[in-house]
Amino acid sequence: MEEGPQLDLINLLYRVSKEEREKHPRKPGTYWVTDLVRCVLKRDYELKYPELIEKEVFTPVFILGTLVHKGLQELLRSTMGEVVLAEVEGSREVILPDGKKVMIEGRADIIVKINNEMIGVEIKTARSDYDLPKPQHVDQARIYNWLFNLKHTILVYVTPERITQYLVSNKISEEEVVDRITTKNIPRYEWECRLCSYSVMCPYKISSK
Ligand code: SF4
Repeated sequence: MEEGPQLDLINLLYRVSKEEREKHPRKPGTYWVTDLVRCVLKRDYELKYPELIEKEVFTPVFILGTLVHKGLQELLRSTMGEVVLAEVEGSREVILPDGKKVMIEGRADIIVKINNEMIGVEIKTARSDYDLPKPQHVDQARIYNWLFNLKHTILVYVTPERITQYLVSNKISEEEVVDRITTKNIPRYEWECRLCSYSVMCPYKISSK
């Protein structure tokens, strides 16, 4: 093998990905928007056993997704200018049935301001274009519409077979947000266990043959 490159792109991608993760540590009284559209137990496990997901910092699928996000954000910024905001953070408090207050935090990929209205753009990369739009992505868009008071969110899919978009205009209600936190529906989707880092210890895992 030849001498190592002076410009180490792998190391750069690793560092950027790691720094991005470290900017957003888990906090006990906070639910991320993504927690509301996946198995509720994963958040508890991440708070208790954070080391088990550390290797997710460098997965090619995740890095590919990050690059597509950055590319589309830059493309929109360079064509539309300052009306395009990227990685917009928002939070909103909700009260659970036991009286506990928790924060819902989310980060919209893109928000575009057009004629005093705010439109969200949520970018999704996938290996195939089967069964689009995915219900968890539509729910995520509904939650962003509520969190950022958006007119609607455009779900953009970038896959090797199809690049397409769907408009989501519904807003989730606060009641449904609370239901999603307190749900006993574990996992939220059966397929989640197959891809879950905590399936090695979880009593609720749905095993397949
Ligand atoms: S193994 Fe399944 S039920 Fe258990 S935390 Fe993971 S997704 Fe949820």
